[in-house]
Amino acid sequence: MKLNEVQKAQVNNQIKRLREAGSFYGERLKELGIDRIDTQEDFENLPFSSKEDLRDAYPLGLLAVPEEEIVRIHSSSGTTGTPVIIPYTAKDVDDWATMFARCYEFAGITNKDRIQITPGYGLWTAGIGFQAGCEKLGAMSIPMGPGNTDKQLKMMVDLKSTVIGATSSYALLLAEEISKRGLKDKICLKKGVIGSERWGEKMRKRIKDELGIELYDIYGLTEIYGPGIGISCKYDTGMHIWDDFIYLEIVDPVTGKTLPDGEMGEIVITTLVKEGAPLIRFRTHDLSRIIPGECECGSKFPRIDIIMGRTDDMFKVKGVNMFPSQIEEVIRDTEGASSEYMADISHENGKDLFVLSVEGEDGADFEKVANKLRTTFKSRIGMTPVVKIVSLGTLPRSEKKTQRIHDYRVS
Ligand code: ZN
Repeated sequence: MKLNEVQKAQVNNQIKRLREAGSFYGERLKELGIDRIDTQEDFENLPFSSKEDLRDAYPLGLLAVPEEEIVRIHSSSGTTGTPVIIPYTAKDVDDWATMFARCYEFAGITNKDRIQITPGYGLWTAGIGFQAGCEKLGAMSIPMGPGNTDKQLKMMVDLKSTVIGATSSYALLLAEEISKRGLKDKICLKKGVIGSERWGEKMRKRIKDELGIELYDIYGLTEIYGPGIGISCKYDTGMHIWDDFIYLEIVDPVTGKTLPDGEMGEIVITTLVKEGAPLIRFRTHDLSRIIPGECECGSKFPRIDIIMGRTDDMFKVKGVNMFPSQIEEVIRDTEGASSEYMADISHENGKDLFVLSVEGEDGADFEKVANKLRTTFKSRIGMTPVVKIVSLGTLPRSEKKTQRIHDYRVS
């Protein structure tokens, strides 16, 4: 994916705004003597911005407009100390609602729908994003916020909610309660718009089956507006990204080099029209890839894959970057392999050694399974591991999250 001429001009506007505002990024550009970009290469040489930069700017150092133009702030959950504060102008708030309304439209939701919104309201961007998009679309919002399952279900039944907005874990909880209480015939849900935490195929299938609804994955992060900068369509082949508001790149998380379409790496986002706190080349730490080609739905909006994890989970063997979720996917798609696996990485005789032990299903031909795993691994991830198939129940289990990747290399 390359910047088009409109996007280039938009980036230059953002550069101008940041330089004039004298915020951290503007100062960085001044030090580097950069006041515009002309080529894709210029753009790809612009410095990144990071969550640390945003924390350092606490509380309002990101402001790129006079304060009287700010109408709202949001804050991202500060899991590691200082939170990040993002200021929004009226236009930013409106642009975000426009994007979110488009998400609903892509999911086939109309002004006849009733959207029950269960993510939290407040400093967090989730609930209010679902809300503003719903109002922009003209649908009826039922602004529940999280928790209070009894009341959620009562409203869902009495008000005949047709759409649920939720995190995947809360959607699953509600799905289970609905079937436990025998309410399935009393609910009118048709669609779920599900927030962007990484969720497995199995969980997805359970929500789908229990509720009998279509599911749409929505993407976004507080630093860049919030949820609603992209969503999957009914063909379910990745999430369309609104490239009239943001420009998205995939970079190698280690070298920072922009990767070709199709390759897995870190999502880096540039806001194209944001006023309150524009960000250029912001590193999200989310892992995905750009899906090459056009979607069957005919939309020209580019697509990224569902989020495969976080860069912190990534590791490199024989020069190839990989993530646990990729390994899980290869195993899931190999007939005769069960879900349990363990990867041991060591460095012997000057070479990386990658041993993948996988439990085989009872009655499977272990040699065949091993061969299939090796070839699928090579074609999808780009290197061939040593594969050992072991009997069901052989690999260690843990009550907590099982540690499956063991890296014995000295760094
Ligand atoms: Zn599509």
